[in-house]
Amino acid sequence: MSLLEIFDPKAAPRPVGIDLGTTNSLVARVRDDKPQVIADCNGARLLPSAVHYDARGAVIVGTPALLLAAEHPRETIVSVKRFMGRGADDAETKRLGTYDFAAPTTPEEAKSVRFKIHDKVVSPVEVSAEILKALRLLAEDELRTVGGVVITVPAYFDDAQRQATKDAGRLAGLDVLRLLNEPTAAALAYGLEKQQNGLFAVYDLGGGTFDVTILLLDNGVFQVKSTGGDSALGGDDMDRALASRFLVEMGAPEGDHGLVRLALDAARQVKHGLTDHDEVEIELPIVGGATKKIVVTRADFDAMIAPIIARTGVACRRALRDAGVKPEELDGVILVGGSTRVPAVRAYVEKLFGKAPLGDINPDEVVALGAAIQADILAGENAHAGEVLLLDVLPLSLGIETMGGVAEKILPRNTTIPAGARQVFTTYADNQTGFDLHIVQGERELAADCRSLARFVLKGIPRMPAGLARLEVTFRVDADGLLSVTAKETTTGVEQHVEVVPSYGLSDEEVETMLLSALDNGEEDFEKRRLIEARVEAEQVLAATKKALAADADLLSDDEKARVSTAITDLEGAVAGDRTAAITTRTEALDDATHAWAGRRMDRAVARAIEGKNLSDVEKDVAEAAGVDAHVEAHASMTRPS
Ligand code: ADP
Ligand code: MG
Repeated sequence: MSLLEIFDPKAAPRPVGIDLGTTNSLVARVRDDKPQVIADCNGARLLPSAVHYDARGAVIVGTPALLLAAEHPRETIVSVKRFMGRGADDAETKRLGTYDFAAPTTPEEAKSVRFKIHDKVVSPVEVSAEILKALRLLAEDELRTVGGVVITVPAYFDDAQRQATKDAGRLAGLDVLRLLNEPTAAALAYGLEKQQNGLFAVYDLGGGTFDVTILLLDNGVFQVKSTGGDSALGGDDMDRALASRFLVEMGAPEGDHGLVRLALDAARQVKHGLTDHDEVEIELPIVGGATKKIVVTRADFDAMIAPIIARTGVACRRALRDAGVKPEELDGVILVGGSTRVPAVRAYVEKLFGKAPLGDINPDEVVALGAAIQADILAGENAHAGEVLLLDVLPLSLGIETMGGVAEKILPRNTTIPAGARQVFTTYADNQTGFDLHIVQGERELAADCRSLARFVLKGIPRMPAGLARLEVTFRVDADGLLSVTAKETTTGVEQHVEVVPSYGLSDEEVETMLLSALDNGEEDFEKRRLIEARVEAEQVLAATKKALAADADLLSDDEKARVSTAITDLEGAVAGDRTAAITTRTEALDDATHAWAGRRMDRAVARAIEGKNLSDVEKDVAEAAGVDAHVEAHASMTRPS
């Protein structure tokens, strides 16, 4: 008798949580109020974060990719998380450079590393999307349809790295509900929010990275007090320490990559064995063809890794200091990351913080489990929905460049998010009609030393003596740690808003193009929405221009008038069609054609103001001339022109 598979076609999509790790990634879901990791058909719960691109165009993810890494190091990307949101000439990129990188041909391209693999160029976002896609398929095997997902990121991830992670999720066809800091996820997995109040340290030692975070739980709300760590410290260093001893025993000549690989694999096996046993025996090949048995005791191993573990202590003490917390004030310490299985690490943590750490949830699963809980809550599946509010902190200060290239911090590092802050600036030259805004992120004093996130220009400010214009800059960071900036000249109400699409190099256009080619469904809807949005914007610009022509056509030269009218006809033609890109470029062209004129209209509006018209009319005129809505209520403190 053949079997017929039955499933409920109305089965609701289920939310999942994903730990997108440097070394390993995993997906989890909540079932019967308990979070659990989704295993693959072989029972494997961890998916190695390795992606291999083969010569015929196939993409292989996970353990099989890892097995191909030794033979095809340039075609197999491991630890892609380290490249997320990083520029082509980033120091970190250079440090990790065993790959072939595509040389950037434009400054825009230089903002993101791109791997060159068999004539193809792939970005870290695309590589990460392959890992996420593999996890999505895994989850779909079990759940049929995956609903919203929560993806975890290190607490120190900056704007560009977070945006890149979100893009990777979208590219993998996932509905990313939000990003969640890894340590916060771990605290959720332990149900610490139920205690209502407390201070916790999260100690996360993974394959190649160490992170420590101090969390404050205040009336059921988590806040990240401080973060610290070392981006080049982890279980891999333990493997290397042990492997170098094996290579000596094997009499391996220097630079034999095959033998190094073999020694590293052996070292990892022995390391894992020593977590549960006091000694482990291993048989190693020696040069000349024979083999040799050696025994490694836990005491040997502990001595070898002591310097590695000690380095985590430096970062922990610093994080405590940053948070203004003494070890004895901590209510708990959480162990995260596969390397915290090592008994010597546990002992060290206990000594360092003066209390036994929480480690009974699998340290390499705890983050994914917490993410699943959060996804469940956000998707409204959880009975306690709404009870857990998670707050994180900014990993790096956000600010803008001011006179002389100084970076003025608007939201300092370690500010709890979501957060907002406002600062007022003024002009430094007479008759300045625009402000160049350069948004930067980092701790350095000079903007040039910080990371550049975005630039934009606030135009259409009436001519005023230096120091009179008042530019109010508002920064807002949402719960995912993404920034939006509003700049407003308060004497006129001229205002501009940008969502900071961080400059890690992928333009929205590119992300969308990739989305279109990669999404299994939803392409049509997506393209439609973009087209509608472009049309709406074009129609607004057309209407504003026509209105301006009716009022102030006399301020245009004949040449300009011809240029504006051609730009209008072109744009109207594009709006009638359905090519989004054509509409966008022609909207920009019309904007350009009217730019100088807008300045003159502004001058006229100001001149009228001085003639002593009714104040609110003037404000409206001026704001309209600048092409924005009037913000009359915001002008109460403006001095009335006499
Ligand atoms: P990441 O967060 O970087 O993706 P994981 O948390 O998955 O990494 O940790 C991976 C590291 O944990 C590897 O170095 C691995 O060797 C180590 N690890 C996993 N299991 C054990 C174990 N039983 N004993 C010692 N180390 C382990
Ligand atoms: Mg991890």
